[in-house]
Amino acid sequence: MRLLRNEALESGDARLGTRFWIFPQPPFIPGYEQPDRVWLPILRDEIGPGPSDALMYVVDPLSDKQPYGLDRLPPFDGARRSPAGPGPDRHFDNVSPTSREFLSVHAYACVHFVLDIWQSYLGRPVRWFFDQTFPRLEIVAFVNWDNAQAGYGFLELGCSDTDGILRPYALNFDTIAHEVGHLILLSETGVPAIVSRAADFFPFSEAFSDAVSLISFLHFGSAIDRLLRRTRGNLLLYNELNRFAETSPEAQVRLATNFRRMSDVTGEVHDRALPFVGAIFDTIVELYHRELVARDCADSRLLDIDLRGLSQRDFDEFRAATAEAFQMKPLIFELALASARDTVGQALGASLRTLDPTTMRLDQAATAVIAAAQGGAAEVLEANFAWREIIGRR
Ligand SMILES: [Zn+2]
Repeated sequence: MRLLRNEALESGDARLGTRFWIFPQPPFIPGYEQPDRVWLPILRDEIGPGPSDALMYVVDPLSDKQPYGLDRLPPFDGARRSPAGPGPDRHFDNVSPTSREFLSVHAYACVHFVLDIWQSYLGRPVRWFFDQTFPRLEIVAFVNWDNAQAGYGFLELGCSDTDGILRPYALNFDTIAHEVGHLILLSETGVPAIVSRAADFFPFSEAFSDAVSLISFLHFGSAIDRLLRRTRGNLLLYNELNRFAETSPEAQVRLATNFRRMSDVTGEVHDRALPFVGAIFDTIVELYHRELVARDCADSRLLDIDLRGLSQRDFDEFRAATAEAFQMKPLIFELALASARDTVGQALGASLRTLDPTTMRLDQAATAVIAAAQGGAAEVLEANFAWREIIGRR
């Protein structure tokens, strides 16, 4: 179990890694103004200026750069700002979060943080799908463009413009984690040979990337803590978990707690991804409830009724009971959520290698995730995918 990985390493010795700051949510979100200090499991002498290492490097173009595309690929060969470097102790938490260099340092830290989590779930290192052409991923810290994208050899980050306020996606963990999700998926399944209208690779890719963003966010000890305190342990409330894409460059805000089924959505890839993301979110919440019930922290009726059709009265009762238990045993709630998170993360990770990117359909992806699930998680996933009409009822 990897609960509170940041703190777990905090007291460790210098050989364990390198310190960075990460904002678990963009700093303009109330409650998230302060970054978390994290230890990345990469040695200080393995990180060069940029930052850069054997897997990736960051560039910050000096003037406006055209976004990459089919006919425009890395490496970036224009003029760059001077690369960000570490402090005298060779850690990167000396870089001020308000400085320009911080964009590069933060983007780098987020990519590593997410990659490290998913390599744990996969049980092996991710090998970039483009490594025959480009040995390293190029991260472009800032492009004057309202989008973020990952592609063949690159991950580049633009900025949103809200009433003249520019908000770089380099400071947006959700956005970066989502894009890293696309890179992980392609690296595990390979690139689809042809883009078939009948296949679901792209909707699945959006769903998987949203799940990567959500599950990776739940690896910040401070985020779990804040989330549970604010909801007093009740994840049925509206909360951070379903705000995770609110400034996403993707076409629409995607809510992990949506109630959409396959018969409610269009063929547009982000829309078609929604029921799958919803099933993943519901499964995390349900496994969390199971843990709470098993540890005597919640009413066992939580497991028997359809939470989507909960009456206000039942909801209020559950909320009161959960809040009381949370006050007594907050640590048990953290453990329960971390366990639910990891069970779903491992099932998702283990399913990837069994998928054929060229022909796969969402029902095949769902079946692969169910097959890869451990313990009682399979039946919960199965029921949720069936409710979403992704698979038939069995
Ligand atoms: Zn996407």
